[in-house]
Amino acid sequence: MIASYPADEDVPSFWQGLGLPGLIDVHTHFMPDPVMAAVWRYFDNGSEHYGVEWNVHYRGDEATRVSQLHAMGVRAFPALFYAHKPGMAEGLNVWGEAFAARVPSSIPSATFYPEPEAARYVATALEHGARIFKVHVQVGDFDPRDGLLDDAWGLLAEAGTPVVVHCGSGPLPGRHTGPGPFGDVLARHPRLTAIIAHAGEPEYAEHADLVEKYPNVYLDTTMVGTDFLNAMATPSVEVVQRWRVLQDRIVLGSDFPNIPYGYGHQLHALERLDLGEDWLRAVCWHNPKRLLGL
Ligand SMILES: [Zn+2]
Repeated sequence: MIASYPADEDVPSFWQGLGLPGLIDVHTHFMPDPVMAAVWRYFDNGSEHYGVEWNVHYRGDEATRVSQLHAMGVRAFPALFYAHKPGMAEGLNVWGEAFAARVPSSIPSATFYPEPEAARYVATALEHGARIFKVHVQVGDFDPRDGLLDDAWGLLAEAGTPVVVHCGSGPLPGRHTGPGPFGDVLARHPRLTAIIAHAGEPEYAEHADLVEKYPNVYLDTTMVGTDFLNAMATPSVEVVQRWRVLQDRIVLGSDFPNIPYGYGHQLHALERLDLGEDWLRAVCWHNPKRLLGL
């Protein structure tokens, strides 16, 4: 049974109890309707793709999903769309600009894909105010070391703009997932501001190594510690203790709306890591605020 405690309406008592003004979530998804519909169809076949049911919990229209975040006290959140084929990223970025304009509480988002135009449209997105980027190594099925990406990584490193990178080998491994390929990108661009999605699961320890090695690498908590992800990859006690030490380099992420449980379960999952209230305050508010310059 998938836990959904606490309910959406009880989420504000979580951050109020910590004395915070709300939550900042660096890992939420908004996409053009047809793209989101395709993503949901994919999750609907969860047993086929992942070997488990994946019933997306928040399936309202865009306005409904935005108001659900607002009602829970999520003060800032990105759109985090991403491309799985060439010729797609630039159009998504145009959609993303319009989304950011109609949802002022959102963090202007953009993406890129290995293609000759990547550096050009990443530069455009930065000029147009993008504050966070996302790439998905497994869904995109590309090598993050691809030479066609090198200038894009360089531009982001120079701008200091964070990029959420899903490079861990879970929930599905890809040809280029794992800490090795993206570790090589960091070796080449050591100042890159990168947020490793899902804390790098299932390679939690190896991605914590990257945080220790590079000054601007962060982990996001997306699905971390939930019953759902623990069934696939439970972090070891040793890893959780390393996260305590890395308190300033961990940021709240949730994967809203594409989660098979209520939003509150993510917060409960972090609370029961038992790393203390200061850790929760840093992760759920202070770190993402500083990182995104909010
Ligand atoms: Zn995600």
